[in-house]
Amino acid sequence: MQQVLVLNASYEPLNVTTVRRAHVLVFKGKAEVIEELDQPLRSATVAFPRPHVIRLVQYVRVPRTLQRKISRRALFARDGWRCMYCGTNGGKLTLDHVVPRSRGGDSVWENVVTSCAPCNLRKGNRLLDEISMALRKPPRPPAPALFIRLTAPSIPNGWRPYLEPYAATAAA
Ligand SMILES: [Zn+2]
Repeated sequence: MQQVLVLNASYEPLNVTTVRRAHVLVFKGKAEVIEELDQPLRSATVAFPRPHVIRLVQYVRVPRTLQRKISRRALFARDGWRCMYCGTNGGKLTLDHVVPRSRGGDSVWENVVTSCAPCNLRKGNRLLDEISMALRKPPRPPAPALFIRLTAPSIPNGWRPYLEPYAATAAA
């Protein structure tokens, strides 16, 4: 089944929807068609462009509570499949809590990073400044584009220009 990429008013990718739902958004004036496919949608009397990428007319703020659950796959993709301490992309990757859970650290995107097994072992139960380790960059919740890339069965060519600026690490 064909899917449609939904962009925020800012052009940031938000999610994926069906052609039917995308058409309804466009028909109601809530979104505009940015990319269309050749074959139009036909009713008995009229033809509409078949949406492939749409853009919401009004900016939608994505609430923090809607943030996706942490999975290893999404975490490793966010971090470009590299250890966030030493930068290696070889060996076994693990999920590391920057502030260990035993020291009060939460399981939130801002406190988990991809770590190679040796760095994870070396760090153990300690805080970074106790062991002179540093993060290559501060961990943040991934953009919705990352999840679109991870969950769509395949990324149509027409979507790529809209996803690429927001999912650089996933392409690494
Ligand atoms: Zn490492």
